[in-house]
Amino acid sequence: MTPLIAGNWKMNTTVEEGVTLARAVAEATAEARGVAIAVLPPFTHLAAVRDALRGTAVAVGAQDVFWEDSGAFTGEVSPLMLRGLCDLVLTGHSERRHLLGETDEQVGRKLAASLRAGLRVMVAVGETEGERDRDETFSVVDRQLQAAFAALGDAPPNGSDVVVAYEPVWAIGTGRTATPEQAEEVCGHIKVAVRAATGIESAQVLYGGSVTPVNAASLFAEPSIDGALVGGASLKAADFAAIVAAAAPAVAG
Ligand code: PEP
Repeated sequence: MTPLIAGNWKMNTTVEEGVTLARAVAEATAEARGVAIAVLPPFTHLAAVRDALRGTAVAVGAQDVFWEDSGAFTGEVSPLMLRGLCDLVLTGHSERRHLLGETDEQVGRKLAASLRAGLRVMVAVGETEGERDRDETFSVVDRQLQAAFAALGDAPPNGSDVVVAYEPVWAIGTGRTATPEQAEEVCGHIKVAVRAATGIESAQVLYGGSVTPVNAASLFAEPSIDGALVGGASLKAADFAAIVAAAAPAVAG
């Protein structure tokens, strides 16, 4: 499976800075082979970043989406509106779940609406520190995945349209990366859970949480980790490119 390295810029950069960063990412990753690359800028940047990346191998994604196609939902952005601006959409990021109260059910509705609109979807799941301490990691990711896929009803998704990002909340933005063993254990579990819920034989599963150029290769060496969702390090083109480069040998070798 081609690894995917996706950069979640979160609420950072102006449009102009975002275009500059996108160009720098394209340039710094131009030699990368056997790795899929995406950047996820804020909604306001999508058109400009899409234009800046035209003709490069760097895809564009959105950080969130709403579950209705149109209507009286002030401030929201629908999957139909994203069509043509990006190919990929993230849903269920822990900052949305924990800071903004997004529910498992809403994540599922966003997944379903985005797939209906022809977008590829990355569903983020992961436990808090307290949940890990209480040995609830598997039950939390199972609950999050089941709720997400339940929203699809009887329509199984195409395997290449769904990516799962395992992001332990305690590792996001903290510098406390999960060990390769911890990440592998949960990513392997997620593949089995996705197969049971959807029939997708081997879903693409990324790890996210304080991935850096220093720890990336050891994470990518694990068999169930098919890439990374990168936050902080995606804002520096050189660091992001080094993470992309760390994923390439995993394919070649
Ligand atoms: C993220 O927010 O998706 C993330 C992985 O952040 P960081 O890499 O900064 O931990």
